[in-house]
Amino acid sequence: MRKNNRETFAMSTPFDYIIIGAGTAGCLLANRLSRDPAKRVLLIEAGRADHYHWIHIPVGYLYCIGNPRTDWLYQTEPDAGLNGRRLRYPRGKVLGGCSSINGMIYMRGQARDYDRWAQLTGDEAWSWHHSLPDFMAHESHYRLDGLPASQTPDKLNQFKQFHGAGGEWRVEKQRLRWDLLDAFAQAAQQAGIPATDDFNQGDNEGVGYFEVNQRSGWRWNTAKAFLRPTCMSRPNFTLWTSSQVVKLNIEAQANGQLRCTGVEVQTPSGRVTAQTSGEVVLSAGSLGSPQILQLSGIGPAALLQQHGVKVVHDAPGVGANLQDHLQIRSVYRVQDVKTLNTQADSFWGKAMIGLEYALKRSGPMSMAPSQLGAFTRSDARQPYPNVEFHVQPLSLEAFGEPLHNFPAFTASVCNLNPGSRGSVQSSGSASRDASGNVTQSRSTTATNAATGNSVQSSSSYNKDTGLTRSATCYNASGAVIACR
Ligand SMILES: Cc1cc2nc3c(=O)[nH]c(=O)nc-3n(C[C@H](O)[C@H](O)[C@H](O)COP(=O)(O)OP(=O)(O)OC[C@H]3O[C@@H](n4cnc5c(N)ncnc54)[C@H](O)[C@@H]3O)c2cc1C
Repeated sequence: MRKNNRETFAMSTPFDYIIIGAGTAGCLLANRLSRDPAKRVLLIEAGRADHYHWIHIPVGYLYCIGNPRTDWLYQTEPDAGLNGRRLRYPRGKVLGGCSSINGMIYMRGQARDYDRWAQLTGDEAWSWHHSLPDFMAHESHYRLDGLPASQTPDKLNQFKQFHGAGGEWRVEKQRLRWDLLDAFAQAAQQAGIPATDDFNQGDNEGVGYFEVNQRSGWRWNTAKAFLRPTCMSRPNFTLWTSSQVVKLNIEAQANGQLRCTGVEVQTPSGRVTAQTSGEVVLSAGSLGSPQILQLSGIGPAALLQQHGVKVVHDAPGVGANLQDHLQIRSVYRVQDVKTLNTQADSFWGKAMIGLEYALKRSGPMSMAPSQLGAFTRSDARQPYPNVEFHVQPLSLEAFGEPLHNFPAFTASVCNLNPGSRGSVQSSGSASRDASGNVTQSRSTTATNAATGNSVQSSSSYNKDTGLTRSATCYNASGAVIACR
């Protein structure tokens, strides 16, 4: 955090831009908005700085999720569709936001997602055609470093139409491979899923190793990419960490219009008001942004009144329509092949893993949570890939729990177009919301059909590998279900 007297500083000189949330979007926005030295930019983050080794060592996601140092520790409300269970709902609470704790998979999504947003909003700027140059502008793809000899000129030219070089957001190949995952990929191809070495050209159908946001075996979060050293050295840029925005200040103007003139911030040394002569950018994430709006009186009037928040603007859509991709984790026992379960099951195995990372920045400690991916269709009537597999050479009951002590791998599957919708509802106070609840109704018939078909498909790919002995599948309710 920039060392200055926040109270005096914030009150005396309004900022041109106040950005709420130094997460994935906030860090990039701060970088771009502070490029103009005449504009004063304040970036406010509720979490602490990212000086924590497990953020940067890739396998550290295991220790960042569920850790109050880096995670907001949200939980869903009990969900009837999930047999009444509450799920942990990790969200990054640290500089870099979710990019400091996430799975590091570089995944843009499908072109038709963007085109559908353009269609729904009537704004062509959302289309894939318009969004692609923005992705490329901030990208630094390892395959465009120098002149790779392995690529033919045709292939390289084709690749350059989708990927960028020289940007801040680093994309690299994973620094490991597993026989088991290679066998899964081969079996998936035999079952008709094409091999792909790039999930990011708009049509991600295929099977292959994911590319990751890492640099030389370290996690590459947005704080490294967009704040250091560029923003941090700009005199017109100010960063406050451990500072939670609790309210937007909204005032009526002479013309009767409402305008956000600043924010109330809870800092370690007390409550501060930061003012803006320009704009406030709300980039506090899918849970934080609606929460702040609701606490500021913008949201469903009935909910706000229930919590004693004065209604500034009745906006029923704020906090509604939350969508997420629930994964079903199918665990398969295997034989005659190496898995992380067996490799990490001894003192020497663990020592070798540590040594490999220390010497080469490779091996299991450089691992993103999922290494191999496949996008396919749950049945032939689907016009686009609608399910995604994450395949891992390991198995456990839940992230944070120890690995199983038998050889096994996990092929989890999620429905990319869930029909269920949830909501984010503030409890009316920022401090109460800090470990708050999210409501998400998960199950619909279409969702269950798509994921059910996919579990059967993954079982058949696994039979094709010839490695599988038996399978344990955990359904959305956490119960063990049979797999063929
Ligand atoms: C566990 C997990 C794994 C994931 N894996 C992948 C993956 O492998 N690949 C992929 O592409 N995507 C992945 N995602 C999704 C991806 O990380 C998110 O979609 C993306 O990071 C969201 O960016 P954002 O800027 O909207 O929000 P965030 O990155 O969450 O940033 C929001 C920031 O706002 C801060 N904030 C919130 N409220 C306040 C407040 N009141 N005052 C001040 N600051 C506040 C938060 O602390 C946070 O730093 C994953 C997400 C999670 C949670």
